[in-house]
Amino acid sequence: MNYRQNVGYKVVLTADRTLMSEYNSFLFLGFSACIPKGLIPDWFYYSMFCPSVEANKDGSVKYAPCGIRKIEAVLLNNGFKRDEVVVAHPDHLDKVVGPNTMILGITENDPLALGPASSTFTQVLGGDGYMKVKFKEILNNRTVQRYKPKIIVGGPGAWQLEDSSIRTELGVDCVVVGEGEKALDSIIKKVTNGEQLPGLVHGEVVIEDEIPVIREPTIDGIVEIARGCGRGCAFCVPTLQRYRCLSIEHILKEVDVNLRAGRRPLLHAEDVLRYKAKGLSVNKEAVISLFRTVRNHPGVDSIALSHFALSSVASAPEVIEELSRIMELNGKDGNWLSGQTGLETGSPRLMRAHMGGKCKPFNPEDWPQVVVDAFQILSDNFWVPVATLIIGLPGETDEDVDLTIELLGRLKRFKSLLVPLFFVSEGGLASTTKSFMVENITRKQNELFLKSWMHNLDWAETFLQECFLINSPVKWFVLRRFFAYSISKSKDFIRLCENEYDYDLPAMIRVARAGKVRWLPFPFQFIYDYLRLRHYEKRRLKADISD
Ligand code: SF4
Repeated sequence: MNYRQNVGYKVVLTADRTLMSEYNSFLFLGFSACIPKGLIPDWFYYSMFCPSVEANKDGSVKYAPCGIRKIEAVLLNNGFKRDEVVVAHPDHLDKVVGPNTMILGITENDPLALGPASSTFTQVLGGDGYMKVKFKEILNNRTVQRYKPKIIVGGPGAWQLEDSSIRTELGVDCVVVGEGEKALDSIIKKVTNGEQLPGLVHGEVVIEDEIPVIREPTIDGIVEIARGCGRGCAFCVPTLQRYRCLSIEHILKEVDVNLRAGRRPLLHAEDVLRYKAKGLSVNKEAVISLFRTVRNHPGVDSIALSHFALSSVASAPEVIEELSRIMELNGKDGNWLSGQTGLETGSPRLMRAHMGGKCKPFNPEDWPQVVVDAFQILSDNFWVPVATLIIGLPGETDEDVDLTIELLGRLKRFKSLLVPLFFVSEGGLASTTKSFMVENITRKQNELFLKSWMHNLDWAETFLQECFLINSPVKWFVLRRFFAYSISKSKDFIRLCENEYDYDLPAMIRVARAGKVRWLPFPFQFIYDYLRLRHYEKRRLKADISD
């Protein structure tokens, strides 16, 4: 064991295991971390869906979430030495935490599984989300418990720990809600001087010049090109209100860091199409120049992106056309591009009430047509949207849901995925509204929920053909089989709900939980039950031994 392993690094940064995966290069499969643990055996989930990023012998990781890399860069820029800070794999904390460790910084997206995707999956399927389970595992890690460094949690899901009683129960010393760069300095000083840490810090918005360049590569080569949004949706977190863009020089430096580690750049912003935009209109020259510069950068042979807004797509079809040309997309053999976007609702009334800014430069009344036009433009140019829908927005009526269902019908022909999520009370609506609960779901909302999934299942067969070009033939074979059966059984499940339960999903879930609805044909269900049983037996045995 070397010196560091004996005494630990001064600052250890990590994230739960679900964030330490590249999801077989399909970042949208990250949604699977929101499904409840126990639905499929852990070994299957972690080896097939969520394989771990590589860990070095010393416990550090080769690739890490972008947010952690930014904090690592701030520390190194502010005088910490390389051998005082480590970005560690959560399964190897015993190698990096020791008596010298002052701070364990954890980045979390959804620590209590309260985010829209987790709460939707766990309400429908029961149980605890993987992210929550794995976050608690870090807190309860034996070495962490032994040396008791100050535990500081940040990241997009930090808001879930604002309540002091929750922090006390979990043993979290300080939570940083918002941007971490500026908050870090005073936290470090307080820890170094042995002063009491504030339980909750609201991190200030950082100006673009103060956003550091990462030193080490990120998961899936993510490169931040802009921060914030500015469209002002009522339920969004306040830190997204201010929109800032990073310079091309800054972006290229981060592209280089990732290229050296063999990662193609994945450009990340809440809406990549608004790069250097003034206000809410697309700055065509700036976004095209960004993509062209990155694409022509030595060593770059492809680009991916994270999010875009449908209103930006509809307002600038020529930009989408040009970007597709730059990225040489042709739709053949999976040569298309996917990205996440917010569709949210087909109701202009709800758009006006909660998300007027999302429609701009169009009006809320135009929204359904904007969505259809955007899907058409994306389809013509080989882009595949993964679009979220919100069920249970405050004030949603059956008429609103009908409008969304009608809109879904118009989207049927476009290769896409729709992710229906239950409304979570956040941001400006946190004090005046409650999150949507599945007990209150109406027949119409059920219909919307299931029709969204039917849309996905109809397209899933195409995705299976085009996407699963995974290197490992065994993994490819197993995943294809698994998905093919799941698709067919899930379709049966939805048809059953439609025909026999008249879209009464809660009633059907009750029956399914009682084991009266089978997901898989007999031989597969038998093998699945057997493996699940063995998995739980093993865990019980382990727990008995450690007791
Ligand atoms: S468009 Fe998205 S990121 Fe922007 S304010 Fe609305 S919900 Fe937030």
